[in-house]
Amino acid sequence: MIVRDALFVGGSWARPDGAEAIEVGNAATEEVLGRVPAGSPLDVDRAVAAARRAFDEWSRAPVDERAKAVERLGEALGARVPEIGALVAQEVGMPLTMATVIQAALPAMVMGSYGPILREVELEERIGSSLVVREAAGVVAAITPWNYPLHQAVAKVAPALAAGCTVVLKPSEVAPLSAFVLAEAAEEVGLPPGVLNVVTGRGAAAGEALVGHPDVDVVSFTGSTAAGRRVAALAAQTVKRVTLELGGKSPSIVLDDADLEDAVNSAVRQCMLNSGQTCIAWSRLLVPRELHDRAVEVAATVVDGYVLGDPLDPATTLGPVATAAHRDRVRAAIRSGVDEGAALAAGGEAGPGGLDRGWFVRPTVFGGVDNAMSVAREEVFGPVLAVLPYDGEDDAVRMANETIYGLAAGVFSGDRERALRVARRLRAGMVDVNGGGFNMLAPFGGYKQSGYGRELGRHGLDAYFEVKSLQLP
Ligand code: NAD
Repeated sequence: MIVRDALFVGGSWARPDGAEAIEVGNAATEEVLGRVPAGSPLDVDRAVAAARRAFDEWSRAPVDERAKAVERLGEALGARVPEIGALVAQEVGMPLTMATVIQAALPAMVMGSYGPILREVELEERIGSSLVVREAAGVVAAITPWNYPLHQAVAKVAPALAAGCTVVLKPSEVAPLSAFVLAEAAEEVGLPPGVLNVVTGRGAAAGEALVGHPDVDVVSFTGSTAAGRRVAALAAQTVKRVTLELGGKSPSIVLDDADLEDAVNSAVRQCMLNSGQTCIAWSRLLVPRELHDRAVEVAATVVDGYVLGDPLDPATTLGPVATAAHRDRVRAAIRSGVDEGAALAAGGEAGPGGLDRGWFVRPTVFGGVDNAMSVAREEVFGPVLAVLPYDGEDDAVRMANETIYGLAAGVFSGDRERALRVARRLRAGMVDVNGGGFNMLAPFGGYKQSGYGRELGRHGLDAYFEVKSLQLP
């Protein structure tokens, strides 16, 4: 069992104010995997004070020093990839081989990417008689969810540190263990005390204390839309700058000239990644009405091919979801789908056979769904796909956009130009065309109730800069 009993504050490991601990579960065994402090508002206060003290010097450190710091942090994380992959696989349920790449190696690379990005970005420009400078925005509260825990943390910490901000990170109470590895990496590379602080704890206590803290200048939040609304309202009391990366109900559109089997295969796999616990999951698959039955058949065959099991078992291709409560929520969403008349083509509410422990949900496919059903409207955040028939391209675009969310989408067509045309009509922050892959340098974020602000690449820096104009004689 991994016991973490201290918080990373001001460059050293501090005893938390209270004695309460949070237990972290192993999603596949239901055993306690670790224990971390439940940070209190007083812990948050100390961490914010440490970040404030560190700010003046760090924000004025030369660009090259900050660029080197994030590069070294990237290397330090890179040296611990197998360990991080195994931690997150157990916390979240993603199969180990995949977790090693996506949950560990990717964040190490994203961290390092901010070295070159910072060196290339224009920090000053002349506009007529003014010199316009971009300078660090201040102390950042970074609050992150459990599904890609280190990646989400790095997507905030890396650009914030590069920009010259100092950070208090509050990771998710469900998957906090990799945040301690990040703190150790900061120690190892000699990041100045207080530049990065890590306080674990629950949203209602540590999270709200951080968002409301008068000495925090910027809140960068990733999580559910419900918590995001609360965070934005709280932050408004002190007029903080806020970026929100929230939920989604993302569509993939298969056009009538696409290779149906290939497209459905890709769309289903994207939806099921990390057992559906992915904000950008394409949980609505839109297909031409005349191809609907065949698409459902292909989707059902794909999900029936998954091998459910412990993420640490190399044979496993689909793991459990992160907590018992979340498993119950996902199963309830499946029940609603059935109750509302969607046609269950694979999976279902009952647990998988042959697995006597672990928070598993069978990968589930519904056919004959329409946008009025809750399974098409609400983020399930589990391995559940809704297949919706449409009548013509305009109808597909209309249905794809008929959602309160706007995070991601996919378009498949035999004609690349046509796919691009449709992609441009979608009200979503990230649209993959014919299976175009994830790009860690491209802006990441949503439209509508999926949030505002962008992470990753050079766009990810914007949240952490203030812009000042100096009028010259
Ligand atoms: P969550 O909203 O329950 O929690 C996210 C974080 O916010 C946690 O650290 C939590 O402790 C904290 N928190 C909760 N309530 C808070 C409050 N009132 N004040 C301050 N902090 C608070 O989300 P989750 O269940 O951990 O993650 C799943 C959700 O995150 C899904 O909706 C998913 O779509 C979303 N998500 C979005 C993105 C994106 O980039 N758009 C990425 C990953 C996950």
